[in-house]
Parts: sequence; structure tokens; C-alpha cells
Amino acid sequence: MALSAPVLAEFKTNIESLGLPADEDVLQKFSQLFDLLIAKNEVMNLTAITDEKEVAIKHFYDSLTLVKDRKVMELLQSGCRVCDLGTGAGFPGIPIKIMFPKAEITFVDSVQKKLTYIDEILTALGIHEGCTICHSRAEDLGHDPDSRETFALVTSRAVANLSTLSEYCLPLVKVGGYFTAMKGDKVQTESEITSAQKALSLLGGKLVFQQSFDLPEEMGERTIVTVRKIKSTPKKFPRKAGLPSKEPLK
Ligand code: SAH
Repeated sequence: MALSAPVLAEFKTNIESLGLPADEDVLQKFSQLFDLLIAKNEVMNLTAITDEKEVAIKHFYDSLTLVKDRKVMELLQSGCRVCDLGTGAGFPGIPIKIMFPKAEITFVDSVQKKLTYIDEILTALGIHEGCTICHSRAEDLGHDPDSRETFALVTSRAVANLSTLSEYCLPLVKVGGYFTAMKGDKVQTESEITSAQKALSLLGGKLVFQQSFDLPEEMGERTIVTVRKIKSTPKKFPRKAGLPSKEPLK
């Protein structure tokens, strides 16, 4: 299998346009990731997207678009502690780790079998150093003293609306750190931002970056939203498991 030469060439051009250097080693790792993802997807449900071009754009490239926020790019280059909350099949965490080997990434999900898969991938690609696998719900992890307010950056893609997501993610961010939400189209994201105003201020966050853009090949509009943590999160957040999604703060 492996990603075909034309798809790899296009992927290289796309990520270079984000300002990310793509040497042979990086491209080879993404190609290997594609093989392992497709093989494992035969035996467990990891992704509905399996076409090589779509995987390269909608999973791999998309996972790296958070660097459009240059503060986030600098943090990742510096090798800070990053949490990928609700990582699923490892997006955006695995592509980030491939591009930024110094980043210390904690992969969090409430479903153990996805984490077992991620562990295998990290080992197979030889990028497990500095990575932690964490089977937990965000609502519990946010109260764990080893995790609460310890991450310089928390990322999350396709997990929940911005209000709910802020309650999952901001308790984990250290004061002065950032939370980056990888969202869909501009209109929907702006409506989520409006609904999340109260949550952001209660949780100690301030919106500092918002940018919408189109994926290559007309594969859809996406929006990157970055929130800076300006104040410590009150102890009562996150609320108990289930509440942030059932009754988003508003
Ligand atoms: N980020 C991945 C997966 C998105 S699917 C991607 O973009 O492809 C959402 C994932 O979030 C699922 O794997 C689900 O198990 C996880 N999840 C949902 N709510 C969660 C919570 N409260 N705590 C931890 N993980 C959660």
C-alpha cells in the first residue's frame, strides 16, 4: 500500500505552505501511518475516511493547520507539554508528534481500545518518546492534580461544541497557556463562539485567535480557534461527568 507518489508530493506542498518542512523521514512516517490506520480500520472502527487523498488532506494536513496560529507553532517547536483531548484515532496528536518530535504529547480518550491503537502507532513509528497515553474522561482528568493546569497547550478536534469543549480543556491548561479548538466552517464556529462567551469567562479563558480557511481540493471549510488562559479555573469546573455536554455553560 503506502501513500502513492502523487498524493505524497501534494501533501508535501500542502504542509510546506503551512511553513512546515517535510523531509523524506517525515513523509515516510505519514505514509507508514496511512498503512497502519487502514490496516487497523479493518478490525476496528477508527475512521470513515479511507481514500488516500482524503486521509492525507482531511486527517493529516488538517491536523497540522493549528500552526496557522504562529504562537501555537512556536510552542510546539519549543517542545512544550501538549494534551490532545478526545484524540480518537490520534488526530491531531499523531501528525503533530511526527512534525514536532520534541513536543511532549498526552493522548487522552475515554475509549481504551483507541489508545491501544495509538500506543502501537507511536512505537511502530519510533516516536513514542515523551508521549503519554491517558485513558480518562476530560471531566475526571481536569481534577487530577498531576494534570490540572499543567499543559502549555491543549488541542481538540471534532469532540464537542466550543462551550462544552472549553469546560473539558481549559481546566487542563496552565495559566498563560493556550487551548486550540479545531472546528468546522466559519458560520457554525461563530455561532459556537457566541454561545461560549460565558463559559470562556467563567473558566478563565480569552479568545485570542480565529481563522477560517478552505482545505485543499475543496475538501471543506475549517476554523482554528485559540483561547488563552488568563486566570486560574475555579475548582468546581469541570462539573461531573456528562454535565458539560448535557448542560453546556451559558
Ligand atoms: N479528535 C479525533 C476524534 C474525534 S471523535 C478526530 O478529530 O478524528 C471524538 C472523540 O472524543 C472520541 O474518540 C471520544 O471517545 C472522545 N471523547 C468524547 N467525550 C470525551 C470526554 N468527555 N473525555 C474524553 N474523551 C472524550
